[in-house]
Amino acid sequence: MRVWAVANQKGGVGKTTTSIALAGLLAEAGKRVVVVDLDPHGSMTSYFGHNPDELEHSCYDLFLHKGGVPDGLPARLLLPTSDALISLLPSSTALATLERQSPSQGGLGLVVAKSLAQLWQQFDYAVIDSPPLLGVLMVNALAASQQLVVPVQTEYLAVKGLERMVRTLEMINRTRKLPLPFSIVPTLFDRRTQASLGTLRLLRDEFPAHVWEGFIPVDTRLRDASRAGRTPSQFDNKSRGVLAYRALLKHLLSQQLLTQVA
Ligand code: ADP
Ligand code: MG
Repeated sequence: MRVWAVANQKGGVGKTTTSIALAGLLAEAGKRVVVVDLDPHGSMTSYFGHNPDELEHSCYDLFLHKGGVPDGLPARLLLPTSDALISLLPSSTALATLERQSPSQGGLGLVVAKSLAQLWQQFDYAVIDSPPLLGVLMVNALAASQQLVVPVQTEYLAVKGLERMVRTLEMINRTRKLPLPFSIVPTLFDRRTQASLGTLRLLRDEFPAHVWEGFIPVDTRLRDASRAGRTPSQFDNKSRGVLAYRALLKHLLSQQLLTQVA
């Protein structure tokens, strides 16, 4: 299994959309995918038709065992999605209570990594949708993953937020055995606006080593797909958004080969 996390400390930048679009394209290629909703808002869980306010069991259950994960628990939590090859480890609102704890407290930092280790044979990929806060949950997402996708909305304020995210990553990378490679993905790009064009240029200037060369355009078909509860490629395989995510997937897979060789 390969584990990817999608993270940014800002909300509304396309994290959930990116997680689901990538999972859908991996499934389209025949890969078995587990998507993990670590955001207490539960957008990904809702996307796939499950209500995070009413679920009795969720990722929260994984955190109730003093940092250990009972055998078989992660598999029992899996829920179906719109795609037979994609299973969901759902969020619930209870996850928010974990965010108030310090990441270093109680040895809870590896719960997601341990949970995914139990699903290693069952899936080819895990895609983690991370919460916008640097707390226990984001620390778990980063610790579990081998590759990170950082969506950034193409507007000026977003770049400030990104600097904070990159500092967080540098801090975390100092504690990891292998540094976590990350790709910055410009999202919600609108070529008619100066803000989009200017931000894209700024991103490429400031983070040349990390910015993916493409961008995800504003595409209402992505919103329509979420309303329909289907992955973007299930909903409209030829939309501009899906074409862009296809190019992103290709990039991530090539990055993955590089890290495997290294
Ligand atoms: P986050 O998970 O970072 O909060 P979302 O993926 O939920 O962000 O996106 C926020 C909103 O913007 C959602 O309504 C989503 O459908 C919409 N959205 C995301 N990406 C695009 C895009 N490329 N084009 C149009 N709408 C988008
Ligand atoms: Mg989200």
